Amino acid sequence: MSDQKRNYRKTKIGNHKLSPETQMMGYGYDPMLSEGALKPPIFMTSTFVFENAQAGKDFFELAYGKREAAKGEEPGLIYSRINNPDLEVLEDRLALWEDADKGLTFSSGMAAIATSLMAYLRPGDVIVYSAPIYGGTEYLIRNILPEYGIKSVEFESGWDELTLEPALEEAKKLGRVAVIYAETPANPTNGLIDLQRCGDAAKVLEKEQGYKPIVMVDNTFLGPVWQKPLQFGVDVVLYSLTKYVAGHSDVVAGAAVGAADVMGPIQGFRTILGTMCDPHTGWLIMRSLETLKLRMSASAISAEKIAKFLRDHPKVEKVNYLGFLEEGSQAHRIFSRQSTSAGSTFSFDIKGDEAAAFRVLDALQIIKLAVSLGGTESLMEHPFAMTHSDVPDDVKLRLGILEQTLRISVGVENTDDLIADLTQALDAI
Ligand SMILES: *Cc1c(COP(=O)(O)O)cnc(C)c1O
Repeated sequence: MSDQKRNYRKTKIGNHKLSPETQMMGYGYDPMLSEGALKPPIFMTSTFVFENAQAGKDFFELAYGKREAAKGEEPGLIYSRINNPDLEVLEDRLALWEDADKGLTFSSGMAAIATSLMAYLRPGDVIVYSAPIYGGTEYLIRNILPEYGIKSVEFESGWDELTLEPALEEAKKLGRVAVIYAETPANPTNGLIDLQRCGDAAKVLEKEQGYKPIVMVDNTFLGPVWQKPLQFGVDVVLYSLTKYVAGHSDVVAGAAVGAADVMGPIQGFRTILGTMCDPHTGWLIMRSLETLKLRMSASAISAEKIAKFLRDHPKVEKVNYLGFLEEGSQAHRIFSRQSTSAGSTFSFDIKGDEAAAFRVLDALQIIKLAVSLGGTESLMEHPFAMTHSDVPDDVKLRLGILEQTLRISVGVENTDDLIADLTQALDAI
């Protein structure tokens, strides 16, 4: 068995390090433990039988941190709120994309975000967060966390200036800064946050307040293929797996990825809050991971062509596509350092008002009118009236979310077909 184990956790051939896209088909799963099945079965079970009473005691001691693991000891399977084979394999594979120690999966992106924040915030603490940010996250920080005595200060992502430092100064006056939280690129403006600057600021704060804030980043937009935040001083990478990672618009799930010591408290909270993913969803996401890089690459190539088509279109005023950042600008420097592709979700402003924008959406024939993003099918929506409906109008206007702004998530359809659809839809203006 020990040979098998080494084999299914292999990360290198000789000195050659294997790539995550190769590892998605096998890493962490031993077929010999499941009748030789090539693919992991779905372990639809709430609980696991212990071989004997001592084994049960040993498993619990390890799971509840009552003792350190013995050399080579793996956590035993207990109960599916604590652990499950499908989720363990999935979590190992998620961690591989970012060379992380540990991944944890959740029942939704919001479950991952809420559980991670609760693990690290206490009454009297302050969270410093970037704007604009996902609506659910914003609601949690602005409306729910204050009820637990947690204050917040926001800083803006922007094309050319950052307001992180003034926000930190203000936050320090309010209490212990426990979390710096960023979403980059921002939705739907594609505004950028300098991740290294957040990581460095956390280190400075550690000296000042004797506690290092945990830096968390929502990496849903570029995904682990195009942006690996742990390399820039970030502690916790958060995902709505619902989007690119699961990628077929058929499940809702989330993840947190990071170093083992940072993930420990988050795992403890997940066990007690019960915010874990279920085995069937986990299995579907394992299948999705096999094509993650293929899907994201195809979408990104298509998105670049579509962004160029839109930029040249007489009825389009502006395209917020990361591939169009001006060379030499601060945003371009940040983008080049921390991201390897412009991705495939972006917004653009048409020439016209809300009615004109709605006419375009209503005229679409292939691209679906729906919120969400990162699926195999292309989707379009109107952020002002839909995903960002809750954001006060003056804030939307300040951030560049206008009545003529549309957001597109480019899928894996034939690019020329998508351009044909957009061509006829833009004629409706
Ligand atoms: C969708 C989304 C979330 C929330 O994820 P759910 O899986 O819907 O809970 C969080 N952050 C970003 C950037 C998202 O797009």
